Amino acid sequence: MTTTDRSGRVIDRHRLLARLQELGEIGKEPSGGRTRLALTSEDKEARDRVVMWLEEAGAQVRVDRIGNIYGLVDGEVRDAPVMIGSHIDTVPCAGAYDGCYGVVAGIEVLQTLIQRRERLRRRVIVAAFTNEEGVRFAPDLLGSRVLAKDTALNDALAISARDGALVGEELQRIGYAGETSPWELLPGVFVELHIEQGPLLDAAGIPIGVVEAVQGHSWWRVTIEGAANHAGTTPMDARRDAGAAAMSLATKIMRRASDAHVPNVATVGTMTLEPNVINIVPGRATFTIDFRDHRNETLRNAERQLEEGLRELQGMGLRTSSECVSRHAPVRFDAGLCALLEALSAELGLPARRMLSGASHDAQMMAGVCPTAMIFVPSHLGISHNPREHTEPDALARGADLLLYTVLRLASDAGGRDGIAGI
Ligand SMILES: [Zn+2]
Repeated sequence: MTTTDRSGRVIDRHRLLARLQELGEIGKEPSGGRTRLALTSEDKEARDRVVMWLEEAGAQVRVDRIGNIYGLVDGEVRDAPVMIGSHIDTVPCAGAYDGCYGVVAGIEVLQTLIQRRERLRRRVIVAAFTNEEGVRFAPDLLGSRVLAKDTALNDALAISARDGALVGEELQRIGYAGETSPWELLPGVFVELHIEQGPLLDAAGIPIGVVEAVQGHSWWRVTIEGAANHAGTTPMDARRDAGAAAMSLATKIMRRASDAHVPNVATVGTMTLEPNVINIVPGRATFTIDFRDHRNETLRNAERQLEEGLRELQGMGLRTSSECVSRHAPVRFDAGLCALLEALSAELGLPARRMLSGASHDAQMMAGVCPTAMIFVPSHLGISHNPREHTEPDALARGADLLLYTVLRLASDAGGRDGIAGI
């Protein structure tokens, strides 16, 4: 490693900030937000910009069959490259940072390595993954999911959007149906830099989060059926009130999460009563539950408690059904890599805190491929997926500096899993 600059100001912060701003202009709306759903013309424009910057940086550019974009710089060996990156698709009316920060900082790292003529033992690759947000095409994390073989390539290409478009056809249309095999450049280690999207680092005034795990989630749709009846004439003890049953179960779930943290967080985000009339006892209630936790066992406990709650309601003469809409097991990141990130933060004089990610990220898929970890930087007031998303320029530059140091350390090591765990 030839970088000895300890000032923590080693990347070109002006270029980093200017590019982030430029990318944030693509798909911009009068409201101040930007919308670049995956594989739309706006996404194409942003992709073209990323490719242009990679070429400007002197990186080789590849696009794989699921549309993931890679910029790479060669090392002495081809095996087990060091991969960094994130995504540039957005939710509707998004902020300018989210995944864009990880991609633009990745390009900045690559450009810095090339300009400084760093001698690298291992290849370094920056990736921009396809359809991370999952707004237009479900499931989310699609590009990294294909790499991790969680979804087969052909199945991914055949996914259709709500607007009827197919992933494969849209990739052709925007010119990003690449020829590289998604598994040709599989990394030996992956690090994703991202804004926290939560309030913890900002509130604590800590510049760096070392992410140890991503919360898993378990989403349910619950239906309770009783009997609709006259609200004036039906005595309380003669009712089979589906609304009251749904509310009491929802309250019980919420109380367990706040009092016993089973699970970490629980949300009843929707509830519909039928017939939804002021003077009729509800005959039917449908609601959703979002359980999240970083411990799979706790997530299972919460699911068991939901089942018990539903059985209790059945004992009271109500019919119930429940359907799991989506489930991701929690993911733990590589302990050796987390320790390395912490040590390098200390070398740069940046206080760091270990934490969990509440949101999903491509890194959770990459954790199934190779040792993986994430770096978080503070999000102002924890606001994200919103035009008011903001991270201070200093904080953005510090995160990118840490990413550069991390890549330099990892790329100077020829080992795979053992090499990294041994750091
Ligand atoms: Zn993101």
